[in-house]
Amino acid sequence: PVDRSPEMQEARLKLPILAEEQVIMEAINENPIVIICGETGSGKTTQVPQFLYEAGYASSNGIVGITEPRRVAAVSMSQRVAREMNLSHREVSYQIRYEGNVTDETKIKFMTDGVLLKEIQKDFLLSRYKVIIIDEAHERSVYTDILIGLLSRVVPLREKVDARQFPVTVHFNKRTPFDDYSGECFRKVCKIHRMLPPGGILVFLTGQAEVHSLCRRLRKAFPFHKNKTEGDGDKEDTVEEISKFKKSRRKKTMTLPKIDLDSYSVMPVDEGDEDREAETDDEDVAGSDHDLDVGDGESEEGERSDSSLPLYVLPLYSLLAPEKQAKVFRPPPPGTRLCITATNVAETSLTIPGIKYVVDCGKVKKRFYDKVTGVSSFRVTWTSQASANQRAGRAGRTEPGHCYRLYSSAVFGDFEKFSPPEITRRPVEDLILQMKSLNIEKTINFPFPTPPPTDALVAAEELLIALGALQEPPKAGRLKELQKAKLSCPISPLGTVMASFPVAPRYAKMLALSRQYDCLPYTITIVSAMTVRELFEEFDRPAVSEEETEKLKGKRARVVQMRRIWAGQGASQKLGDLMVMLGAVGACEYAGCTPQFCETNGLRYKAMVEIRRLRGQLTTAVNSICPDAGLYVDPKMKPPTAAQVTYLRQIVLAGLGDHIARRIQAEELLDEKWKNAYKTPLLDDPVFIHPNSVLFKQLPEFVVYQEIVETTKMYMKGVSVIEPE
Ligand code: ADP
Ligand code: MG
Repeated sequence: PVDRSPEMQEARLKLPILAEEQVIMEAINENPIVIICGETGSGKTTQVPQFLYEAGYASSNGIVGITEPRRVAAVSMSQRVAREMNLSHREVSYQIRYEGNVTDETKIKFMTDGVLLKEIQKDFLLSRYKVIIIDEAHERSVYTDILIGLLSRVVPLREKVDARQFPVTVHFNKRTPFDDYSGECFRKVCKIHRMLPPGGILVFLTGQAEVHSLCRRLRKAFPFHKNKTEGDGDKEDTVEEISKFKKSRRKKTMTLPKIDLDSYSVMPVDEGDEDREAETDDEDVAGSDHDLDVGDGESEEGERSDSSLPLYVLPLYSLLAPEKQAKVFRPPPPGTRLCITATNVAETSLTIPGIKYVVDCGKVKKRFYDKVTGVSSFRVTWTSQASANQRAGRAGRTEPGHCYRLYSSAVFGDFEKFSPPEITRRPVEDLILQMKSLNIEKTINFPFPTPPPTDALVAAEELLIALGALQEPPKAGRLKELQKAKLSCPISPLGTVMASFPVAPRYAKMLALSRQYDCLPYTITIVSAMTVRELFEEFDRPAVSEEETEKLKGKRARVVQMRRIWAGQGASQKLGDLMVMLGAVGACEYAGCTPQFCETNGLRYKAMVEIRRLRGQLTTAVNSICPDAGLYVDPKMKPPTAAQVTYLRQIVLAGLGDHIARRIQAEELLDEKWKNAYKTPLLDDPVFIHPNSVLFKQLPEFVVYQEIVETTKMYMKGVSVIEPE
């Protein structure tokens, strides 16, 4: 309890923020990150730390930290808050670069952002703090920006440390399935659903197609019919269903192994104990499975439909429409068990209530980039121990739970401890440009929490030099010196402009070049669409029923037709897939960017909303650099003229100058594998125009592409035509 003086109390009550205390504290209790906006003088700086203190956020095992961009604010605010709370400077303290009055008793600590930045370097998890308040974050001071970036990494790591409230018993498979982990997931879910007490099941798979296919198999095995025609009323029906569900369960349910609530770990309790206690099968011989209830997944027995045990199966992955994602948070229909088949998104980003069982295939799909060529591909690999433990933890959010790992503990032991951070796996040109604009020139010396590989740094600097964002190093000198010089090039005036756009440097360059011929609105739209990616709904998934097969066929045909329309006529067509993006966004905005329009035309609504937001943001950024541009986001944007299209193609080429490809001519065709293929300067192997491209059939002689993605072949996406002058 805080013992405030009556005068203080009275002054406090006049502050508008006091009326919001409950709302603010609820938001803070329920979210890892909260942004508070309010008028100057409304009481944010002085009162929020007190709210937190009174709610128990400041104790001996964690204090409240507040950063200020200015020293004077750190000092004076600590004094003011101490006075308001009637506490000494030993408890409400400050720390600025060279001085401070922090003690062991400090509960609230004001400091400059630079001080916290230094502390992060020593204690990355900031374990001393229960809460960090970044005051004046909107000022975007350099240190505050870097802090926000770092904290965005710290927050999920801290969650890992203390989010799991209940013990989770981990069961390993004795054997690791060689290949068919999806089938293994199916069999495991069947067993859990038939034999174990109520509680939601969360399955981790690697991708959208797998998720849908498992959903389909499970729905077939344990059908759940939403609209029952039998029965008199909903209510009776439900009661009956519940008792039926319970009865069917009582017969078969096994007792779970006892969990010791005081001592648990995510390491194996007793390897394979489920095989003894909960099941009777023996998985020693691959495929042999004597459990009478659950046959081998491929056999008739396993797929046998059992409608007495309805399972409410839902998919979950990041590209799924938000309203479908939202379904997982609602309780399942009465009498059913919830089963969510998900990708990695369920590992950290989302918390699903009521999950008691986790089934983990142990794999993850990730995008890999070739450091030299930038070609990306998605690969399925074993996940890390940290991420497997994170997955297991999802079973213990509301009560003690169980995690079934479909691989052996020996295999788990060989997992890497942590997944390598993203910065080590992707191109870093955007990051390097931002650092250069902060005048961090020798990027190789920067104390990254994990430094990117040196070749990625070199590739980034080389690209930025080629784009004109960095000043070119002097040509003279030996190779080694040149290499060194390259890693410390200062930013150029063009680079400074580019750094102010929140998009990849290639796209920023396009924006910086677009002032002429009123091309900016078009470039902004194209760049937004290229940045958001995946505008189009994928209809490649296998259909559940014949009815759906027809529906999907119809949708696919519609998308092909719309793409052709959006690609335009005459000159526009040369802009290829970028014209399709421009046309799609234009048409969608013209129609008011509604979910219905997107649904009918095969566009992803979520992507279109993001594009709209990014267009707004880029328009504001351009206006603030050249106020006379007077740009606004026009929902009724006219298609570009022929002259504008020509200029836009030059702009695109300026940003993607190294992403060019030449079609292989008939006389060069030495090997069948080069049929319809293109040659790029960087790659020895053939690349192809993606079948979804509007230029797929046309095969122009020279093209420029947004990116190459490797699947069964190397495919160019976002293709437009180049014509030799
Ligand atoms: P905000 O952070 O929302 O701009 P503050 O918490 O800094 O608001 O200030 C809330 C109110 O407390 C202000 O209206 C101001 O008058 C009063 N206040 C802040 N610091 C002092 C101080 N050192 N002495 C007297 N009053 C102060
Ligand atoms: Mg303030």
